[in-house]
Amino acid sequence: MTDCLFCKIVAKEIPAEVVLETDRALAFRDINPQAPTHVLVIPKEHHADAAALAEADRGLADEVLKAAHAVAVQEGAAEGGYRIVFNTGAGAGQTVFHVHAHVLGGRDLTWPPG
Ligand code: C5P
Repeated sequence: MTDCLFCKIVAKEIPAEVVLETDRALAFRDINPQAPTHVLVIPKEHHADAAALAEADRGLADEVLKAAHAVAVQEGAAEGGYRIVFNTGAGAGQTVFHVHAHVLGGRDLTWPPG
């Protein structure tokens, strides 16, 4: 999508600090980190949210989830526990409508989220 921020990151039209890349997924640091580890994992292909991705391509959804776990391990966040969050829909706080997994860790995480 031409006007999608994360598609522009995939196309390298907007810079991002990439921490992991696979054939079909990209992981980069969130510009407004909410934890010592805060990485976004996206499919390179545009899908609006997690529901749309799961509906369209289960294999790609699996690749995004595997990449999210790999990022947690790579960042050293796996041992202490980490969280993978897909905000889905504006009411849940989704602001960028290209599906992304937030990988959060490196500190104690409280529950419930806000
Ligand atoms: O789940 P939600 O859609 O709110 O998350 C979008 C995330 O994208 C935010 O955490 C925001 O900080 C991040 N972002 C980014 N780089 C940009 C624009 C937004 O990391 N250029």
